[in-house]
Amino acid sequence: MAKVPEYYSVKETKKPIKKRIYHDDDQCRAARDIPQSERRNGTGGYRQCQECIEASLVSAA
Ligand SMILES: [Zn+2]
Repeated sequence: MAKVPEYYSVKETKKPIKKRIYHDDDQCRAARDIPQSERRNGTGGYRQCQECIEASLVSAA
């Protein structure tokens, strides 16, 4: 597990606004499915991905 700078998929804009998320862990499965060409740096103003939150909790423990 490793923290990476926040990023999100350009396809988040296709989701309902409440479901849009960003990622910040390189082990997140959902994040790894995002092609490099569709990644954008930053949070996009979205919420943090639940899996990334849990990954950070595990690595901190
Ligand atoms: Zn994630």
